[in-house]
Formats: sequence, C-alpha cells, structure tokens
Amino acid sequence: MCPIFRFAPSPNGALHLGHALSALINFEAAQRRQGQFLLRIEDIDTIRCTPNQVNQMTDDLRWLGLDWPEPVVQQSSRFDVYAASIDQLKQRGLLYPSIASRKEIRQAIARSEEQTGHPHPRDPDGAPLFPRHLLKEKEHANGDCAWRLDMEKAMKLVASAPLNWQENGLRSPSYPQVSAIPAQPNAWGDVILARKDCPTSYHLSVVVDDAAQKISHVVRGQDLYHATGLHRLLQQLLALPAPLYHHHRLLTDIAGQKLSKSRGDLSLKTLRAQGATPADIRTMIEFSDDDLAAFLY
Ligand code: GLU
Repeated sequence: MCPIFRFAPSPNGALHLGHALSALINFEAAQRRQGQFLLRIEDIDTIRCTPNQVNQMTDDLRWLGLDWPEPVVQQSSRFDVYAASIDQLKQRGLLYPSIASRKEIRQAIARSEEQTGHPHPRDPDGAPLFPRHLLKEKEHANGDCAWRLDMEKAMKLVASAPLNWQENGLRSPSYPQVSAIPAQPNAWGDVILARKDCPTSYHLSVVVDDAAQKISHVVRGQDLYHATGLHRLLQQLLALPAPLYHHHRLLTDIAGQKLSKSRGDLSLKTLRAQGATPADIRTMIEFSDDDLAAFLY
C-alpha cells in the first residue's frame, strides 16, 4: 500500500522555520517511501485564516521545493462533513451542550481552589480541565452553544480494549522500533468538539480528515504528542482507522522557547525578503537524514 503523508498547517499567521521543518520531513519521507505527500489547509477559524495567508503559505512551500496534488483540501469547505460526525456523537449521548462562559469557568475554578486548597487539574498543555461538576450546565436546545465530549462516558465505551497509538520512533537498522503508546485521552477532560461560533474543532476535524484522505503516516511536532491520545479516542468512537504517528523535534529559539507564528519572527516570508535561499532554510533548521530516520528502514 502506498504510504500517504500530509502537512496540515493552519493559515492564521505566516509560516515559520518550524513549519518548514515539518513540511520538509513529510515531503521527503513520502519521497523516500515512494508515497504521496498531501497539503491540507486547516482553516476552520475563518476569521483568522484569510485567503491571502493561504496564498502566501502555498507560495512559501513551493519556493521551498515542495509540490502536491491539487485540489488541496481546505477544511473551511467541509463543515457539513464535520457536522455529520458531531451528530453521530450527539445521537449516542456522547456530547453535551455547554453554555458556561470563560469567566464563569475561571470563577468556578478559583472558588474551588480556594475552598479545597488544592490546585484544579490541568490538561497536558497546562489549561485547567473543564469543571463540569462545579457548574450547573443547563440543557440548551437551540444549538447556539458549544458541545463538549462527555469524557467519562466515552472512556467507558472504549474500556474493553487497551487504547494505544503506534509511534514510529527514530529508527536505525539496529534499532527498528514502532512503540505502542498508551493513549490517555482523559487527561484532556470534557473537551469542546464543536464551538459556538464554529461547528467543529481542531481535534474533530483532524481525525475526520486524516481518515477521509487515507493518511497512513501522521508526522507532526512533539507539541501534539499528548493530543494524539485524544485523537485515538475520537477515531475509536467514530470507527475511523488509526494511522501511524511520528512526532518530530521542535525548533527552539536561543532562549529555548518553541518558535511560533505569533512571535512574527523568522517567518519564511521575511527570510525570503532578506535574501535567504531554500538551501539556507535547510541549513538554518539543520535538516538532515536524521530527521527522516523513522522512515528509512
Ligand atoms: N493544523 C495544526 C497546526 O497548524 C497541525 C495539525 C496536525 O498536524 O495534526 O498546528
């Protein structure tokens, strides 16, 4: 079977060196494995993701030497597909409407921390888990609200078998390794799967599209490592196949901070304007066969 890789950026800011690393690993891994490389535009946030940014992004990637089959899937044209998955989960009673505002959530957590003297549990990204037990969430019939996953109910449904994902580690002939990593979706609590202002979420649309595009290898940064546990749960609930995963190194700046679009620095656009060549970009990110080791053997 021909392996299918994808690079799936969100065009809510300029592509930076970290994106170049991820895109190059996916593109070259696909080439080495005689596979296919797809570009997918994850633009469910239709306010922050603009057509200009999509154009800049595809231009940067072509300049870097990448190509991909057209047409490119844009998530903003697939809201009806995500809505069908949301409906499926709603019909099985796995989602509940959530009307609590950010302020109400913050206040409920602060009150509870004050009363118990214990810090409220946090998800792997450091955000407080949704305090359902502290809030009186009312049924809200008109659909104008967010929908959260009932994590406890979902975990019970998948409890009959261990939930793992396959992580394709950095391999060598002497160290060929795909490891089963235990998925811990409950570390995320009752996540929002459909927002009030957007009928889906990153977590839902990414698993729906990886399955729809028959992605065999999901290769992305270490920052999404823990989210993979939640993605495995959603795949299980929606009866979607599980791809192989590989979480690659992240680039950090001199201070050890993860590079990000919001910092505005080191965007490919700026580096190009300053005269950098695609070869310079590869040198700056220290791109080498080591980055492809997971796919070479
Ligand atoms: N769209 C996500 C981002 O730009 C990446 C999604 C993924 O690779 O799973 O951070």
